[in-house]
Amino acid sequence: MAAPKVAVVGAGVIGLSTALCIAETCPSCSVMVLSDQFSPNTTSDVAAGMLIPHTYPGTPIHVQKQWFKETFTYLFAISNSAEASEAGIHLVSGWQVFKNTPKEELPFWSDVVLGFRPMSEAELQKFPQHRFGQAFTTLKCDCPPYLLWLEKRLKATGVQMYTRKVADLWELHSEYNIVVNCAGIGAHQLVGDEKLFPVRGQVLKVHAPWVKNFIRDGDGLTYIYPGIHRVTLGGTREKESWSLSPDPGATKGIFDRCCSLEPSLRGAQDIKVKVGLRPSRQCVRLQREVLSQGGVKLPVVHNYGHGAGGFSVHRGTAKEAARLVGECIAALQGSSSRAKL
Ligand code: FAD
Repeated sequence: MAAPKVAVVGAGVIGLSTALCIAETCPSCSVMVLSDQFSPNTTSDVAAGMLIPHTYPGTPIHVQKQWFKETFTYLFAISNSAEASEAGIHLVSGWQVFKNTPKEELPFWSDVVLGFRPMSEAELQKFPQHRFGQAFTTLKCDCPPYLLWLEKRLKATGVQMYTRKVADLWELHSEYNIVVNCAGIGAHQLVGDEKLFPVRGQVLKVHAPWVKNFIRDGDGLTYIYPGIHRVTLGGTREKESWSLSPDPGATKGIFDRCCSLEPSLRGAQDIKVKVGLRPSRQCVRLQREVLSQGGVKLPVVHNYGHGAGGFSVHRGTAKEAARLVGECIAALQGSSSRAKL
């Protein structure tokens, strides 16, 4: 069989990292990224990009932990290299604070991040409304720079990128041997997945270079995540809302909540409002499927539905998707050698 042609649909963090893993694990493949939008116009560009996992109720915890660990290890190595600033990857220390002690004092990811420990009474004095807290160091991706860095890596490995809206995965069957679906919330329409729903998120990106530590309220709704150039203030979570228009009431609410955690933010400048739709599902859809029409078959690998935690697990899920692409190639090679007999 000639070099397999693989189309990856989607150019958010999931599509780009999946295309890179496929190109790395299958150098003989010809990989193309097809997407109707590229950075800076994807959901991934809106994200804060913090490595703090979101829990997927439909996925075993040991699998989620493995995805997170692989992602952390991969980004930690970048943060410790000369590429760190261009890739927008950096370590950040801070606190997750709770008004009431959580049931689970040790989250499953506590031994993956660095230096996880309960906060001391002295530290908690910074947060008079909170009774319990956890201090740790994690990684943050500055989103547009990281996506551009991934695109640059892809081009360097010979992966081509085309702007194209795919109406139906089957339309790719005559041009490609394997299709990888990384369409994020776009998969709702692309493959009619009714289990996939948007959770609208609004954030503010502000100039406040004196804020160096992250602060996250344990309810996950209010957070302050300092990046290399801007601080992300969040947020909102509106299930089933498809609106991409900023809501001025939400902007005020986010700003006031963040200022109550970090009063110095009252001096923040150049406030920009961003909205994104988290592609949410009970579990990430990471599986093979074979589409078939009139005896013609098209192997597909799905990798979408990362909800509120796509950055935290992207490398782990990309590796698994690349492994599934390897299985598709082996199956195609098996059927082409059987056909020759
Ligand atoms: P997207 O970035 O939406 O990419 C999908 C791609 O598919 C796009 O390029 C789109 O153009 C393309 N596409 C869709 N349909 C088609 C089609 N029919 N044909 C061709 N192309 C198509 N996660 C974290 O881990 N940490 C965080 O701190 C964090 N903060 C967040 C804050 C907010 C406000 C939001 C909204 C999300 C946050 N997330 C965070 C979640 C994270 O952003 C997502 O999980 C992640 O971006 C999903 O990536 P994706 O590549 O699947 O989707």
